[in-house]
Amino acid sequence: MSNSTVIPWVVGNWKMNPMHADALKLVEEFKQLLQQNPIATDACYIGVAPTMLSLINIQTQLKNTTREIYTVAQDVSRVAGTGAYTGEVSAELLKDSGIGYVLIGHSERRELFCDQVDILKAKLKNALNAGLTVIYCVGESLEQREQGLAEQVVLQQICDMAAGVAAEQWQNIVIAYEPIWAIGTGKTASAADAQAMHAKIREGLNQITNLGSKIAILYGGSVKADNAVELAACPDINGALVGGASLNAHSFYQIANAFAQSK
Ligand code: PEP
Repeated sequence: MSNSTVIPWVVGNWKMNPMHADALKLVEEFKQLLQQNPIATDACYIGVAPTMLSLINIQTQLKNTTREIYTVAQDVSRVAGTGAYTGEVSAELLKDSGIGYVLIGHSERRELFCDQVDILKAKLKNALNAGLTVIYCVGESLEQREQGLAEQVVLQQICDMAAGVAAEQWQNIVIAYEPIWAIGTGKTASAADAQAMHAKIREGLNQITNLGSKIAILYGGSVKADNAVELAACPDINGALVGGASLNAHSFYQIANAFAQSK
C-alpha cells in the first residue's frame, strides 16, 4: 500500500509531442474515460504537461471536466518577472495565466539544454516565489548506477534542491525520481530498486524538513499500464511521471487508476 498520508500524483509529460489536433483529441479521450469510470480527486491528483505552445488551450479544455486535472509547464525561465528575454517564459507569466505547476530538472533539460545546478536553483527559486508547485526531477545515469553511485548522486541532487526551499515552501514540492537509463528506453527499474531509492530519498527529506513524510515522491521511467500496479504497491512510491504512455489516453488512465486504487 502507498504511504496513506500522501495522495498519489500521476502526471503525463508530453515532451515535444503531439501535434495540436492530436493533443486536443487525447484530452477528449481521457476526459471520456474519466467520465465513464471516475477517479476521485482525493484518490489521485492527475496532471498533464503539454508543450508551452498548448498550455493555455489544454488548460481551457480541461476546465469542464468532472474532476480537476492540473496543467503543468514542462519548464520555466531562470529569469524572473518580465523583460527583454527573447523566447523565455517566467514563473510569474505562468502564474498569471493560471498555470500552477511546473517540472524542473528533467534529465532531458539537464543533459540536452545545459540545465546545471545554478540554473536549476534559479528556476526553483523563481517558481516557488511565484507560488508555483514544483515537480523536481532527480535521477542517476546508467554509468553512475553501474559504479555504485546512484544513491550518492540522487541525494546530492536532493540537497542541491533543498538549499533553495524555505521551510514554508516544502508544501509546494513534489519529487520525481527518474533513473535516466529508464526514461524512454522501455527499461523500468524493478519495483524493489525503485522502492529502495524512494526510501532513501524519503530518509534524506526527513533529515531536511519535518514535512518529509508528506512529500509525494513519484517514479518515472517507462511506467506503463502493465507495471503501474506493482510500482503503485510500493510504500514510498507516491505516483508516477509518465512520458510515452501518457500519449495514449487508455494507458494513462490505467496508470492513474492503478495509483488511485493503491491507496
Ligand atoms: C519522462 O519523460 O519523464 C519519462 C519518464 O518518460 P517515459 O515514461 O517515456 O520513460
